Amino acid sequence: MGKDVIKIKKLFSMLCIFALLLTGCQSKLPQQPVYGVAPAESEAEIFINGIPLKVYTAEEQEYLNMKEFADAVGEKWQVSRGILVHQASIFHGDVPYFFTTDTLPPEEDNCSLYLCGGIYDGSSWYQQLEQVMSLYSYHLLEDPEKNCSYYTTYPTAEYLHTDYSVPTLMYHAVGDEPWGIRELFVSPATLEEQLKYLTENGYTPIWFEDLGEVNQLQKPVLLTFDDGYDDNYTALLPLLKKYNVKATVFIIVDLLNTEHYLTSEQVKVLSESGLVSIQSHTMSHEFLSTRSAEQLTYELQQSKLALARITGKEPFAVAYPSGRYSDASLAAVEQYYQFGLLSSGGTYVTGAKRSMIPRQYVSRNTDLEEFVEMITTAEG
Ligand SMILES: [Zn+2]
Repeated sequence: MGKDVIKIKKLFSMLCIFALLLTGCQSKLPQQPVYGVAPAESEAEIFINGIPLKVYTAEEQEYLNMKEFADAVGEKWQVSRGILVHQASIFHGDVPYFFTTDTLPPEEDNCSLYLCGGIYDGSSWYQQLEQVMSLYSYHLLEDPEKNCSYYTTYPTAEYLHTDYSVPTLMYHAVGDEPWGIRELFVSPATLEEQLKYLTENGYTPIWFEDLGEVNQLQKPVLLTFDDGYDDNYTALLPLLKKYNVKATVFIIVDLLNTEHYLTSEQVKVLSESGLVSIQSHTMSHEFLSTRSAEQLTYELQQSKLALARITGKEPFAVAYPSGRYSDASLAAVEQYYQFGLLSSGGTYVTGAKRSMIPRQYVSRNTDLEEFVEMITTAEG
C-alpha cells in the first residue's frame, strides 16, 4: 500500500517534470533560447575593446556568438553542475544573466533569467547584438562607411566615486633634441627619474579607463601626453615598458603620418602595448573656442571615428587644443566624450565637472621637487 503511494507520487512528479520540459519550463524560466540553424556570417564587423569579431545575421537581425563575445570582453567560463556556464557581468537589477553552452540552465538561486531571443544551434549560442549592448547599457560607435561598429568599456564620468584626488600630469614630447618649442620636450632622463619616483613611492599610474575603480587604487596618477609626437613611440614607450607604467596619448588626427608625428601603425602598436590609451586631441588642433557648431561636431566626432578605425577602440576623452574652450565647446565635448581635459587648473578631484578636468603641466624645466609637489595630495 505505502509502496504504491510512493510509486504514484514518483510517477506524478515525473509527469510534472515532463510537462515542464514540454512547456519549456515557461513558468520558471520565461526566457528560453530559440533552437535553430546558426545565423550566417555577415560582412559587418564589430570591435569589442579593440578585438575584431564577426557579426552574424538571421532574418535581418544581427547576432553575436556569445562565446566569442565573452572571450573578447574577458569574461570567464566555468563548469557548473556539469555544464559550461558563462556568468556575464550583465545584471538586470540584482539578477545576473547567464549564458550557457548547453540547453539546461544552471540552478543556482541567484540565477533565474536568460536572455530572450537567442539562437542555439546545438553547439553555439547566438544573441541579438542590440540586446546584448542594451543589457550592458553601452552604446556602439557606428561606422557605416566601414560597415563596422565599436564597443569599448569605459567609465561614465557621472557615476565615478567622488572626491578622490587624481593628479593629472600634462606632457608633450620626450626628447633631448627639441626641434620645436623647447619647453615641450621633457628629457628622457628626467622622465625616467619621474617614473622611477612614482613606482618607488607607491603611486599607480592609471588610464581614464581605470577611474571606475579609483576607490581601490593606491595613489592614482594620470600621465597624459598631448599632440602625438613620434617620440612617444621611440622614447616614451620603452620607458613605460621598463617601469610597467600606463600613460594616455592625445592624438591630433590631421598630423598623423606627418614629420615628427606618430604614424597610424605606431598608434596601433601603442594601443596594443597594454600601456598606452589613445584618446583625441581633435582633428586640426584649432582652438575649440573659435569653432562653429558644425566644426565642433567635425573636430570631436570625426577624430573619435578616425582613431577608432586605427585602434578598434572608441576614444572617450578629449584634450582641448591649447586648453581653450567656450560654453558651446564644453557642451559639445559633453555630448561626445566622457572627459574633457584642460591644460591647467591644479589637481583633478573625481566628481569635478567632466568636461573641465584640470591638469598640471610638466615641462622641460620641471625639476623633481616641483614634480613631487604636483603629485602630492592631501591623501598622498
Ligand atoms: Zn596640443
